[in-house]
Amino acid sequence: MRQVAIYGKGGIGKSTTTQNTLAALAERGNKIMLVGCDPKADSTRLLLGGKSQETVLNSVKEVGQENVTEEDVFKIGFGGVRCVESGGPEPGVGCAGRGIITSITTLEQLGSYEKDLDYVFYDVLGDVVCGGFAMPIREAYAKEIYIVCSGELMALYAANNICKGVLKYAKSGGVRIGGLICNSRNVDNEREMVEAFAKKLGTQMIQFIPRDNVVQRAEIKKKTVIEYDKDCVQADVYRELAKNIEQNDMFVIPNPMTMQELEDHMMEFGFLQEYERTTDGKGATAA
Ligand code: ADP
Ligand code: MG
Repeated sequence: MRQVAIYGKGGIGKSTTTQNTLAALAERGNKIMLVGCDPKADSTRLLLGGKSQETVLNSVKEVGQENVTEEDVFKIGFGGVRCVESGGPEPGVGCAGRGIITSITTLEQLGSYEKDLDYVFYDVLGDVVCGGFAMPIREAYAKEIYIVCSGELMALYAANNICKGVLKYAKSGGVRIGGLICNSRNVDNEREMVEAFAKKLGTQMIQFIPRDNVVQRAEIKKKTVIEYDKDCVQADVYRELAKNIEQNDMFVIPNPMTMQELEDHMMEFGFLQEYERTTDGKGATAA
């Protein structure tokens, strides 16, 4: 059983990419559990087609930790994926990571990790790997980390921070980076920049995902792209990512950058270069 955690900046596309990739992994015959670790509890919506999923934290609150059953915490989604939402406190109240801790403890107690699963995926919020959000890697549940990013500075900044967190637990827990997933924001030179960034961190860009509105159309229908339009190009991109994860054998301890190195990297590949080339340094109106 492979345990995989997906990290990345808020709003970058972790939940969307994870669910679409799991739909593809399920198509390939894998048995999968998805543990949503965002207090927003929106990690499983597309796979569940909008079925409302009670969070583990709420179930535990209602019936008590000892009385929680698998029926309380699981719903089966598209492709047979077992979907769990950890939940979290009201915004601004208490530790947002507590849901994850409760969730993993409850799954342990229910023996859910002993089922014949091929994969457990954790969809984890966070630019930083701290507190409860570090739990899947600190306690050595997830050994394999993929970071969703784009070519935007803040996305790379977050990815770099996550690498710092991984580095901290790599020696004791054996956690490794499996690659960066570039979820495109149509930044200039994005593919090359993220590829080079990955290389500098010591890892790889395992997939480039184009920005495509079919993702939104599927989202409105509460579906993964694979379920919504199985023959579209974007569906094949997620299938390719699923295959790349399945066949991945590059697991590394990352070399995070300093802020200066990160900024230099942006200058080297970023939009300034492109902008200055196309406008001859005279700005956008100087055509
Ligand atoms: P996160 O889980 O990282 O906070 P989400 O997966 O919720 O982010 O994605 C945020 C928004 O971005 C969603 O509304 C989703 O439809 C959109 N999105 C994600 N990936 C793509 C893509 N490749 N093309 C178009 N829209 C996307
Ligand atoms: Mg999310």
